[in-house]
Amino acid sequence: MTSRRSWWGWGYENAPEEPAGSAALQAALARLLQLPVGEPVTPPRLEDLNLRPSRIDLPADLRAFCSHETYDRAAHCYGKSYRDVVRALHGEVGNPPDFVAYPRDESQIRALMAFAEANAVALVPYGGGTSVVGGVEPTTSSQYQGVVTVDLRHLDRLLEVDARSHSARVQAGMLGPALEAGLGRHGFTLRHFPQSFECSSVGGWIATRAGGHFATGYTHIDDHVQAIRMLTPAGVHETRRVPSSGAGPSPDRLWLGSEGTLGVITEAWLRVQPVPAFRSAATVRFTDAESAIDAVRAIAQSGLRPANCRLLSPLEAGLAGVGDGGDAVLLLGLESHDHPLDAAMARVLDLCARLDGRSDADNPTGGTSKAGQLWRRLFTRAPYERDRLVARGLLVETYESAVTWSGFEAFHRRVMDAAEAAVTTACGRGLVSWRIAYAYPDGPAPYYTVVAPARRHHELEQWTAIKAAVSDAMLEAGGTITHHHAVGRVHRAWYAREQSGVFLSALRSAKQAVDPHWILNPGVLVSREPDQRPGFVPTVNASIQGRSS
Ligand SMILES: Cc1cc2nc3c(=O)[nH]c(=O)nc-3n(C[C@H](O)[C@H](O)[C@H](O)COP(=O)(O)OP(=O)(O)OC[C@H]3O[C@@H](n4cnc5c(N)ncnc54)[C@H](O)[C@@H]3O)c2cc1C
Repeated sequence: MTSRRSWWGWGYENAPEEPAGSAALQAALARLLQLPVGEPVTPPRLEDLNLRPSRIDLPADLRAFCSHETYDRAAHCYGKSYRDVVRALHGEVGNPPDFVAYPRDESQIRALMAFAEANAVALVPYGGGTSVVGGVEPTTSSQYQGVVTVDLRHLDRLLEVDARSHSARVQAGMLGPALEAGLGRHGFTLRHFPQSFECSSVGGWIATRAGGHFATGYTHIDDHVQAIRMLTPAGVHETRRVPSSGAGPSPDRLWLGSEGTLGVITEAWLRVQPVPAFRSAATVRFTDAESAIDAVRAIAQSGLRPANCRLLSPLEAGLAGVGDGGDAVLLLGLESHDHPLDAAMARVLDLCARLDGRSDADNPTGGTSKAGQLWRRLFTRAPYERDRLVARGLLVETYESAVTWSGFEAFHRRVMDAAEAAVTTACGRGLVSWRIAYAYPDGPAPYYTVVAPARRHHELEQWTAIKAAVSDAMLEAGGTITHHHAVGRVHRAWYAREQSGVFLSALRSAKQAVDPHWILNPGVLVSREPDQRPGFVPTVNASIQGRSS
């Protein structure tokens, strides 16, 4: 495998394929969608891209660590959502950054900020570039002379491990695998596994409040963050490294989820844990999906805190090859570095049995269940598979939210109805599957996947219609616009509806204070003017809209 990232899609160029897995998934989709999956489109060659020339020039000291090579600019046009991959596949790279900076230390980032402020240049902080919400897409605003993307890949060191306090100081550009390998050498793990783990960074996780999978306890990166160091145009801010504090509003909480709009995170102290020594896993099948949902609630409210408690709808389990398409499948895992888990697993299985859950006969006494292993393989491979399906003409998109248990039933019905209706209208037919990706004592975080035939060159219209319908339904049914995919540009209209006008105005003021020239990731998260709205605003509930502006 080469170490160069794909400029247009997920992961690394020449990443090994798993042809058998790909073929099985494509065949299952073709059967379910009743259409042959088409011949793949090949991405344009870099030399054919014909990018707009850079609009700005940089002084020599900045040029030393900046590039305007075609590969660098093309690879930093977009994140890695369906919408990004489709645009790149069609060679639509009309708004690339003018330069991509690869700073090696904080002084270079500060120099970039000073230049950007003096020359009306926007800066886009960039970690792994796996945003699915337009978070790393350059602004198109004419208020800026140009855009420089600040790729933090060289800030990639594990700086310090405080074993006594179970914490580690890491640089923000570290990607998941390097972080886990480094911590593992000290007997620790962060145990934060977003699906994008392979290519996403510590700074990106913090800036987007990422959610790790295989987790019910510490799910969001928020819970792992002990302190943050951030460079802003107004100066450096470093939060105090303490286990907890009651001193006023938490500064960490302001930087968490700031999506590159308030500063560049360069380092963080993270709470780590010893590598688990005890593991117990099980798979439980339910004929009735509602009973399965009740079982998830019972487990989430039991205080047992399984490391994994993931419920797959019958369709999703069938597609993943862990079910027959008739049963909902619950994948369970418990972990501890400290104590055996037999009693806890027995109790979890008892809660499931009371709701007619049937435990797999081959459930192991430790490690991962067979179905769990299969699911995990598909889950980590899924981003590569997604791109193959997109290249073959399928629209593949996911939607995630969180809602209270008391609101879940109505929420779920409404979102499924909205998604199925929108898919039929926009694409003629398609599949909508669901899973409960995370379960909290007070509610689940459901996750929906749409797969439907796309019409070539009309993909974004189809995508926009479905996105708007599902997002409207999520908000109107009491959920949040995102549990872990962040706001970026794509969710900004719904985020503005979700928050009060008072909060948005406080956020704008905070940005104004640390970034008075609005050079940091303009257009992401919060708009400069309260009444400004992004391009594809769906029908908006007037009373809610009124409150937010
Ligand atoms: C296939 C796929 C699966 C995904 N699965 C998950 C998942 O399971 N859980 C989840 O939470 N998300 C998931 N995501 C979304 C994405 O991976 C997360 O948002 C991730 O946290 C982004 O990290 P990154 O390093 O790639 O950030 P980037 O994409 O580079 O940036 C994301 C945002 O953070 C800002 N940013 C990045 N680094 C810094 C920094 N050092 N300082 C300040 N701002 C910064 C950027 O400006 C941008 O606004 C998935 C995405 C894909 C494509």
